Amino acid sequence: MMATTKHPMLETGCARCGNDLSVSLMSRFNTDVLCMNCEALEREHPAFAAAEETELLAVRSADYNFRGVGLPAGYSNWASQQRRER
Ligand SMILES: [Zn+2]
Repeated sequence: MMATTKHPMLETGCARCGNDLSVSLMSRFNTDVLCMNCEALEREHPAFAAAEETELLAVRSADYNFRGVGLPAGYSNWASQQRRER
């Protein structure tokens, strides 16, 4: 990545939709930095509860470098379908 005077996250925007990150939140599935909308959407995914629980267990066992369970298969298709339905 090129050196820049701007904060890299502000430069690239949300990892999933590219929106500006006035508020940036970390995905529970991986290390993506998300806008509020994408974070809220992620919470509605059927695999979210399991991902959150897995992360909690990792933190409890002092695995602070846990990087998430990974994005569920087909997540981006699921997410764009949810966006269309609103
Ligand atoms: Zn987003």
